[in-house]
Parts: sequence; structure tokens; C-alpha cells
Amino acid sequence: MIGWDKVKYLSVHDASPKFQKELEIIFDKLNDVKIKNRTIAIVPNWGYKWDIRKYPKFVQLMKQKEKEGWELVLHGYSHSHPNHIPWYDLFFQSKESWEFYKLSYEETKNLALKGLKIFEEVFGHRPKGFIAPNWRLSDEGYKAIKYLGFEYTSSIRYIKWFKTRWEKCLAVWQDPTRLKLSKLLSFCLTKEKVRRIIHPRDRLNRIL
Ligand SMILES: [Zn+2]
Repeated sequence: MIGWDKVKYLSVHDASPKFQKELEIIFDKLNDVKIKNRTIAIVPNWGYKWDIRKYPKFVQLMKQKEKEGWELVLHGYSHSHPNHIPWYDLFFQSKESWEFYKLSYEETKNLALKGLKIFEEVFGHRPKGFIAPNWRLSDEGYKAIKYLGFEYTSSIRYIKWFKTRWEKCLAVWQDPTRLKLSKLLSFCLTKEKVRRIIHPRDRLNRIL
């Protein structure tokens, strides 16, 4: 899809016990990829059904990856939006992946805190990064995440370091509905380094 020489950041998203099998395959495939900046985006309770505290095999895999140099970051709480957005859902799977879409400051803070609580309980430390599912975070939500003490969040185009700057670094991922677009963008950005995002539901035979 895109040459590894163009990748500055590598991130595996949607880390949840729901996708244990796929995650094992992904990490096996990535074993020989030497990208220094590697993150795993943890979803503490996918779909309100997959609380990571109940899945020791998953936790063990994540802790192993952390030892190998992967940074664990918080990727929402459940990954699903509390309210159904039927029109959007036809095209974007918004219910399943726009968890923080249009949430207020307080709503964002409370939901992120729920995720933080589980994350800290399981991994014994606070994550530096917060990535909203589908990068959908309102301006109010951005302030709430900053208030909670995270060092950075990100959008599709930027990594937003709270203390310093917004670093331009496009996220490129494989998605059935956007595959052509992301290919086109990566083609247009031949001189820029990108963030390569891998999801458990990618076509795993094509992730490298
Ligand atoms: Zn996600």
C-alpha cells in the first residue's frame, strides 16, 4: 500500500479482546518492521461488552508489546456512539466508531475518565496519548482531553502535542470505503512522512 520508508509513526488501532485473533496475526506480521514510533490504541470496553479486565490473554499480549517498545494509548472507552446517527451510519459506521462525535466538554471528560480508570487499573500507568475513535473530537472535547493531562491527541491530519505544536502527519489506513482515497493521498504525498494505521478488520494479507 505504502512504502515503509515513508512511515514515521505506526499505530495499531482498535486493540480489544474482541479482535484477539486478528491482533496476534498483525503483531506477527509486524515483527520485522523497524519503525521506532509505535503505538497501540487500546479500547477498554469495546461495544460495552469487551471489558479488557476480563481478558488476561489480551492484557498479557499488550504488556508484552509494551515491553518490546510499543506505546499504549487510550482509544476512547467503548468505541461506539451513545446515540445512533442513522443517516451517517449508512455510510460511515458512525454508531460503531464515532464515540466522541459532538460530545460536550463534560461528556468527553466523563467518558474518557471511564476509559482511563480501566486503563490505569490494568496497565498500572497513565497513557500519554488519547486518540478519539475515527479521530472525531469536538473543540470542546479537545479541551477536555487536554485538561485530563494527556500529552497529545490526533486528528487525521495532525498529531496535536498540547505543550508544543500541531505536527502535520497524515494518517493513512486501509478502509473498504476509503481505500482509493487513502491510496491517492499517499501517492500525492510522496515527499511527506505519514502515520500508518492498521486495524484488525483490514484485509490482513495486504497490510505489509
Ligand atoms: Zn478505532
